Amino acid sequence: MTIRYKLCTLLIMLLTASAQAAVNPPVSATPTAKAYFLDTVLWSYSPTTKTYNIPVCWEKFSQSTVAERANVTSAIVNTWQKYSLARFTGWGQCPLSPLIFNGIRITVDNFNGPRAALGTQGNGKVGVMRLNFRLTTGTGVPQIWTQCRFNFPAISLGACIQSTAIHEFGHILGLAHEQNRSDDPYLPIPILNPLCHADDPDPLPLPQGSFTTKGNTLFTDYDLTSVMNYCRSNYAGRTDLSPKDQLAIRVYYGQMPSYDSRTRILKVPRIAKYDGKIFTGTFKWISSNIWQRVGDFTATTTPSFSPAKLSSSGVLTMPGIKYINGAGHVNQILNGTFRPGLLKNYSGSWTRVQPLTFAPVAN
Ligand SMILES: [Zn+2]
Repeated sequence: MTIRYKLCTLLIMLLTASAQAAVNPPVSATPTAKAYFLDTVLWSYSPTTKTYNIPVCWEKFSQSTVAERANVTSAIVNTWQKYSLARFTGWGQCPLSPLIFNGIRITVDNFNGPRAALGTQGNGKVGVMRLNFRLTTGTGVPQIWTQCRFNFPAISLGACIQSTAIHEFGHILGLAHEQNRSDDPYLPIPILNPLCHADDPDPLPLPQGSFTTKGNTLFTDYDLTSVMNYCRSNYAGRTDLSPKDQLAIRVYYGQMPSYDSRTRILKVPRIAKYDGKIFTGTFKWISSNIWQRVGDFTATTTPSFSPAKLSSSGVLTMPGIKYINGAGHVNQILNGTFRPGLLKNYSGSWTRVQPLTFAPVAN
């Protein structure tokens, strides 16, 4: 999407975290679904490579130097790839004939603002994903390079470019602008800082087609510190993911345990047993807090950024479970503890990790 970089002033927000609430599954309600991840354009998991592969290529090597391209690659390795199994692969020059590439084509355009379509929408399309390696022209007043130096007087141009690239690759992963969420606490009248709340047109028409710019899931509290939020303090120049960014990326690209309220099945991709062995397991919700193991745990090599642990007494602890609601969207993150009972039955207790402010409405 077109990026309209605006200078964000520092917002001071008093966060009042409510106590974590117990959850009795299955819950089929969801907050108003809008913004954040667009879960219809996510990249799929490959059982062969055990990663979420996203092929990328540079439209023309002549548009940039080896060092400039390496600067972008390292920014992505140190952020999105560090906290997930998403892997941007290839990084060669895009094929010109035939003009077919199954992945994201990156154009270096030093005259316009950086931009990217959400998720797979830009797959194979020329000119949708654009980076700018000068940041002195294009949209945004003042220019991004000026904003970076305002926020961090000693910053290098390379670091400033990295901050824009991390944001754009977040879009490729399917993340929409956090400030466009319907539960933005500063809407409808953003008194404190109207400029950083610029709303994206949705859909956004481009020569390559129309692109959905809003997400359709909400499973964390509104994140003022997200790399996807223009209103983040010192937005231009920052190269760190917020804690909720790190959590969010694990949900879709981390092989996190997953409970589907429609089938009442909980799948745990990776269980680390106390003796070092690794298993995968499946449970079915029976009633109240009773779960039943489906079959036996089986050995696996599946990686996970939210692995469960199995103690010597058979207690299973899960530090992250994504909850899929009746509409098929992830709408909350839980942690859980299952204690073994008779036969294959377990007594389970769940606690919601995110969002802390949960306002369920009918699907
Ligand atoms: Zn953006």
